[in-house]
Amino acid sequence: MKLLVPVKRVVDYNVKVRVKSDHSGVELAGVKMSMNPFDEIAVEEAVRLREKGIATEIIAVSMGVAACQETLRTALAMGADRGILVETDAELQPLAVAKLLKALVEREQPRMVIMGKQAIDDDMNATGQMLAALLGWPQGTFASKLTIDGDHATVIREIDGGLETISLTLPAVVTSDLRLNEPRYASLPNIMKARKKPIETIKPADLGVDPAPRLTTVTVMEPPKRQAGIKVGSVHELVEKLRNEAKVI
Ligand code: AMP
Repeated sequence: MKLLVPVKRVVDYNVKVRVKSDHSGVELAGVKMSMNPFDEIAVEEAVRLREKGIATEIIAVSMGVAACQETLRTALAMGADRGILVETDAELQPLAVAKLLKALVEREQPRMVIMGKQAIDDDMNATGQMLAALLGWPQGTFASKLTIDGDHATVIREIDGGLETISLTLPAVVTSDLRLNEPRYASLPNIMKARKKPIETIKPADLGVDPAPRLTTVTVMEPPKRQAGIKVGSVHELVEKLRNEAKVI
């Protein structure tokens, strides 16, 4: 079974992001970029399914600027077989990504799309759900366990009160949550091997999709600075401050 795994290039999770001085977005110049952590989990899950003999081919897809090639190379070094870069300088929002993925699904005919539940840059948590709706496929979102048995997938989902188990008929869209697995580090030999794996570059127009944004960002602000704390001398003083200053008791 073929698997399609979308991987997004985002600001590395260790970077402290800074808002641009004109408040139009966050500073990307000279900032370390990496694969979205939830997409690493999705790639790992796909590779494990191939190791179990369930998946036969893993296609990694990234959309955005030419540098998304690096993200694809990381996916190839982790074990994906080939990559597709949908290259565009346009700002890509979830609906555009979902439409592009739908067109790729129609071209590549995978049995499953495994992707991140959310990209850590814009925290949309929307693309997987939109893709499932556009394709008319079942969706297993926030997956913390995935089992495939013939034409069915069982997904254990992380929900507010605990865990929910659902059964999906393939083809389906699955989105990964944090506890699905622990992604492997790509070994040096695999990084070298990944250099020889193919990456096809296409444009949104090749897929018949107009990726123009539908949402406008009005302004981006830093969160308010936290006030410094104070030390109190006694429990009595603490209770007094909570009651009369913070007015929380
Ligand atoms: P979002 O809905 O933006 O939070 O993203 C959810 C998931 O959609 C991500 O974890 C990726 O798997 C996928 N995705 C979103 N944008 C892109 C992109 N530009 N390229 C590849 N995959 C993407």
